[in-house]
Amino acid sequence: MSKSSSPNQPSSILLRNGLLATFTKKDGVTTTPSAHRADVLIQGDKITATDKPRSLDPPDEALVIDCTDKWIAPGFVDTHRHVWMSIVSGHEDWTLAEYVAKLSFIAALHVTAEDVYIGELAGCLQALHGGTTAVVDHFHCSNSANHIEKAIQATIESGLRSMLCVSCPSLPSSFEPPHAQISEIQIETLKTLAAKDKGRLTPDGRVTLGLAYDMQGLNPTEDERIISLARELNITPITAHSVGGPHLKAYSKKARLWNEAGLLADDVIFSHCTDLGHKGCDESEWELLRKSGAGIAATPEDELGMGHGEPVTYEAIKRGVKVGLGIDCASITSTEMFPAMRFALQHERGRAHKVAADEDKALKYNAFTAASAFRLATLGGAEAAHIESKIGSIEIGKLADIVLYDANSINLANIIDPFKGIVFHATAADVEWVIVNGEVVKKDGKLVRKEWNEVAKELKRCAGNVRDRYKESDLEARYNALIKQFELQMV
Ligand SMILES: [Zn+2]
Repeated sequence: MSKSSSPNQPSSILLRNGLLATFTKKDGVTTTPSAHRADVLIQGDKITATDKPRSLDPPDEALVIDCTDKWIAPGFVDTHRHVWMSIVSGHEDWTLAEYVAKLSFIAALHVTAEDVYIGELAGCLQALHGGTTAVVDHFHCSNSANHIEKAIQATIESGLRSMLCVSCPSLPSSFEPPHAQISEIQIETLKTLAAKDKGRLTPDGRVTLGLAYDMQGLNPTEDERIISLARELNITPITAHSVGGPHLKAYSKKARLWNEAGLLADDVIFSHCTDLGHKGCDESEWELLRKSGAGIAATPEDELGMGHGEPVTYEAIKRGVKVGLGIDCASITSTEMFPAMRFALQHERGRAHKVAADEDKALKYNAFTAASAFRLATLGGAEAAHIESKIGSIEIGKLADIVLYDANSINLANIIDPFKGIVFHATAADVEWVIVNGEVVKKDGKLVRKEWNEVAKELKRCAGNVRDRYKESDLEARYNALIKQFELQMV
């Protein structure tokens, strides 16, 4: 727990007299949202005390932050983000089929390791700026060992907590015919990295190695070899896309496929799972998820916009399945978790209102509160990523991943309930301080570790280089070819 003392990484931090938004234990389970005024003491990388306001004495050399006009909350846990994709942009109007044709088969193939470095760095800093302190990073640009090394380097430099899930294979190796061959590049790199420190990529465990594996069922002879190897080498969590919609059947029903292959376990996170809301899904698939302890990473904003199918965020809550939120791609949605919380909650409310209205009735109350969405983005995410014993709430013994909101800001000044404020009114502009692993990474509204203007310059330069490597018309041609080849019925 000891660490060297520096202005941004003091040996201890006392958060004095803030409005603490977290959860209390009920029947031994940390789950009930709770807001009350408190002091919070951080020593080293951990939360070591919480007590009545102005009751804790700061240790010698402690950084003391007066939180009288601040909210103290756990950092967001993003369960599904392709961090590197901050290097690409302009995909906001795409459908899912467009994304597969244009990004996976063209744009991503032109991203170099140098581009990955700056995309990953910018993506991590964007997360921190918005109060996201931990991510499950589905890194599907692992085109070479160098790409993987650069993503790791940038993540470590940023200060973000990351479960960096390296995709194996990286991207489809051919389009005609569609093919995604397992490449030994990723396997050998993962083996080497995992051997260094049992899956840890930093000595403090802030960045760890995971696996992204979308091949399940497409390449059955390889599935068991790769998943078993990952588990043997402590490369977890293991994350995979599972989506609905009429055109991506090979990427749906993943829980069932993994179970049939004997590979479903509590170290797996399926992103989206919008196929579970589709016709043809029966409750047995939900039960597989609940029983196995596997988690769901819902990204409701782009799920709604791109045609993944209906978000199942609250369907998971109702069935006791672990579920968190994510933003998915910076080129499609905001990098902040605030919209993700709003989309999840308002989609559920809209659905419930419609069910009632279809029977000529109205709901007397909304069933789910703002606090439920806050939980999804914090403790729920930690549960889905199987790391709730370490992060996701402000409790003694947990790692100090904490956000301080400016409760006097233009957005928040007249908001009494921090859960409602954080979910419905806050933006990254209200995120004043961010602490990861006991280290201050955003202070008084500014990122500490990197000078953003320098990152932005390099980001724009490299992004321009990527765009120059292909023609815009190639994207459209590839999309039309994909539609024709798979005889997709489009309207
Ligand atoms: Zn994704």
